[in-house]
Amino acid sequence: MLQKVLIANRGEIALRITRACKTLGIKTVGIYSDADKDLMHLRFVDEAVCIGPGASSESYLNIPAIITAAEITGADAIHPGYGFLSENAEFAEIVESSGFIFIGPRPEHIRLMGNKVSAITAMRKAGVPTVPGSAHAVTTSNALAEAKEIGFPLIIKAASGGGGRGMRIVERVDTLLESVQAAQRDAEMWFSDDTVYMERFLQKPRHVEVQVLADGNGHAIHLFDRDCSLQRRHQKVLEEAPAPGLPEQARADILEACVNACKLMQYRGAGTFEFLFEDDEFFFIEMNTRVQVEHPVTEMVTGIDIIEQQLLIAGGLGLNIQQSDVQCHGHAMECRINAEDPTNFMPSPGKIEHFYTPGGAGIRLDSHIYEGYSIPPYYDSMIAKLIAHGKDRKTCIARMKQALEEIILTGIKTNIPLHKDLILEDKNFCSQAMDIHYLEKHLLQKLEGHVKENA
Ligand code: ADP
Repeated sequence: MLQKVLIANRGEIALRITRACKTLGIKTVGIYSDADKDLMHLRFVDEAVCIGPGASSESYLNIPAIITAAEITGADAIHPGYGFLSENAEFAEIVESSGFIFIGPRPEHIRLMGNKVSAITAMRKAGVPTVPGSAHAVTTSNALAEAKEIGFPLIIKAASGGGGRGMRIVERVDTLLESVQAAQRDAEMWFSDDTVYMERFLQKPRHVEVQVLADGNGHAIHLFDRDCSLQRRHQKVLEEAPAPGLPEQARADILEACVNACKLMQYRGAGTFEFLFEDDEFFFIEMNTRVQVEHPVTEMVTGIDIIEQQLLIAGGLGLNIQQSDVQCHGHAMECRINAEDPTNFMPSPGKIEHFYTPGGAGIRLDSHIYEGYSIPPYYDSMIAKLIAHGKDRKTCIARMKQALEEIILTGIKTNIPLHKDLILEDKNFCSQAMDIHYLEKHLLQKLEGHVKENA
């Protein structure tokens, strides 16, 4: 079993990992930047080490500083959380070659899935359905021929892409070549890798994903699915589990395909297979080899603590859950609460004046903020995740609405009005799952008017 875990992250996920370690009796080491000495989890960890200045490149992405912190505190394992170094295969390799346990998959699997072209190729081999597309690098010399096969509209994506950046939709052949060049430039700028590929642009898909856990020796299970279709700029805003209204056979088939792929790879740890779902068909887009922001909705419906399982697997205790042990109870939903201006989505760092946290049956709040805490300007604007669970989707929505009604968060601007007044009041959303364009196409225009009216 692990003795002491260094948590290589900040914010709510660092607190979440601290909690899981504490309940398992594992000692914890927190790291923090100069701008982060007031982080909540630092009050609970056994030791804390400052690893550099505020800018992430000098602190949370500073591999030598993190390894040194693990060495001087005698940690035996490192949990990367999500974001930052969590999907950096080189970091995982350095962690392991420095004599620590990396709480996550083997570096080779992080690398395989970190490149979307190799991920798609591997998934095709494993029998997982993928979006019709090139599945190899596209350049100005082969783009025309590839586009003929795929058809228009198509989407050009960066092989090393992430965070919803650098995707280009191409409607017509006459803009294809310039779009390929522009996408290559973007890919180089964002990801230092100009490899791009193309796939069919699905017009009205939903984003449905499958959570898996695996022991690294061929035992793997799924924890059902989530719908994360409500997105802005390809970034998730609200997630739910299970994905509503999936045809049962299609669901069963995709869950099985994901589990089989994990067994085949001898995948280790937690992971998420992401799909687009259109016309009752699933199309794989990528695999995330880490814990997801939205993991709590799965925890709420299955009762399984995903971080605890990551720690047990990394500690060599295996995965002592069989597929037949996993049941999906009721429905859960998560609203991501961001410190941002709801009219223009600009970050709104600053000091929290008042913070009242909602409660009641089925309500969970994962957050590191507190009254008097100052949100630094350097990092992601997500500051809390409000999660509701109920016996069915209707109850879950009712509980979420009440929780959003109760929450008080002042001193900064937040996107709470987006959740409270638009998404959860929207009849279409409440009656069924929506496609990935619904939030931007139908709801966001209303938001500006609404916020102005109520100002
Ligand atoms: P990233 O790794 O940058 O998040 P993904 O490949 O996971 O990129 O895609 C993010 C989002 O972009 C998806 O959830 C979806 O909204 C949109 N998207 C990606 N591929 C397609 C496609 N082929 N057709 C339509 N939308 C897509």
